[in-house]
Amino acid sequence: MIARRLLSLLLAVGLTAGAFAGAARADSCSLAQMNANACTSYDGGFANLGITERQMLAYFDSGRYERDVASVDGRLDAYVTKRLHDRIKKPAVVFDIDDTSLSGYPYEKAHDFGFDEKSYEATEATGFPAIMPTLRLAQHLRAQGVAVFFITGRRTPFRAITIANLTKVGYPVPTGLYLRPVGDRAKSVIPFKSSTRAKIAAMGYTVLASVGDQWSDLRGGSAEQLFKLPNPMYFLP
Ligand SMILES: [Mg+2]
Repeated sequence: MIARRLLSLLLAVGLTAGAFAGAARADSCSLAQMNANACTSYDGGFANLGITERQMLAYFDSGRYERDVASVDGRLDAYVTKRLHDRIKKPAVVFDIDDTSLSGYPYEKAHDFGFDEKSYEATEATGFPAIMPTLRLAQHLRAQGVAVFFITGRRTPFRAITIANLTKVGYPVPTGLYLRPVGDRAKSVIPFKSSTRAKIAAMGYTVLASVGDQWSDLRGGSAEQLFKLPNPMYFLP
């Protein structure tokens, strides 16, 4: 009983302190500060969505995004090339598809960084452009005799349009392409992706690297080195 009261007291003190902390951050500044551009904005501790959207557009449209992707892909290429000197048995690399191999940015830009399944699937059917550094990476790995696998959160009915899209933009014919089964209703894609990598390893491949734009593409084991591409647009568990 005492412990519970103590807990309530501590909570009350904490909430009050929190309220004061909030109050202390309420924004007010003098005209002189405003003219000196010295006013700050608290906004609940969040980044302002409208400003963030503008910054993201600049990030992609300036070419900075592609340079960042090229840097990560380049490190993957260097890692695999170095490992190939070790006479690796059936070397392989696993690629995610959306916003790793193919770019959803034109869709996101046209939809104000929003998403609805119907319009997304319609765009998917017409095809997305390649992310050029990843395309060059896949081609280079293939030329060195590395098996290229794709594991995607796209569902199995999208197999044909996915293969058509990858082929059209120039990806090498994959050694394997795995799509998430329709019946897999897990909250996270990690069990599907990691168990599929385990399957690839069980087929005798050495999965030297795995690359994706979400940490959920990479978690769960069965790959030596993980490469995370930038994606400020959305988060997938
Ligand atoms: Mg992705």
